[in-house]
Amino acid sequence: MHPGFVRAPELLPTPKAADLPAERLTGERCVWCGKTATEALSARISVVKGELMRWEPRSCSYCLCHEAKRVYTIHIGVCARCTHRDYCPDSRALYELGFPK
Ligand SMILES: [Zn+2]
Ligand SMILES: [Zn+2]
Repeated sequence: MHPGFVRAPELLPTPKAADLPAERLTGERCVWCGKTATEALSARISVVKGELMRWEPRSCSYCLCHEAKRVYTIHIGVCARCTHRDYCPDSRALYELGFPK
């Protein structure tokens, strides 16, 4: 599979929706740091006050890159499909996002 088919932002865990201020839930502000958001992270389904809620978090470009790096580092340590010679599509997509050329 081509790495382009995996949307790396979908692989990044966001903070709990229930704990976030409104402007981070609506995607107006970065879900991690609260600065102006420029990058879409794909829609999420979370439970807020006992109800399922669909929301579309966004982030600033700095946090997107930083989180991709962090998740990539964890991923390669735990993923059964990633070896020293070959990496799974998730891992390649995270790498492209976290370590832009
Ligand atoms: Zn941010
Ligand atoms: Zn992997």
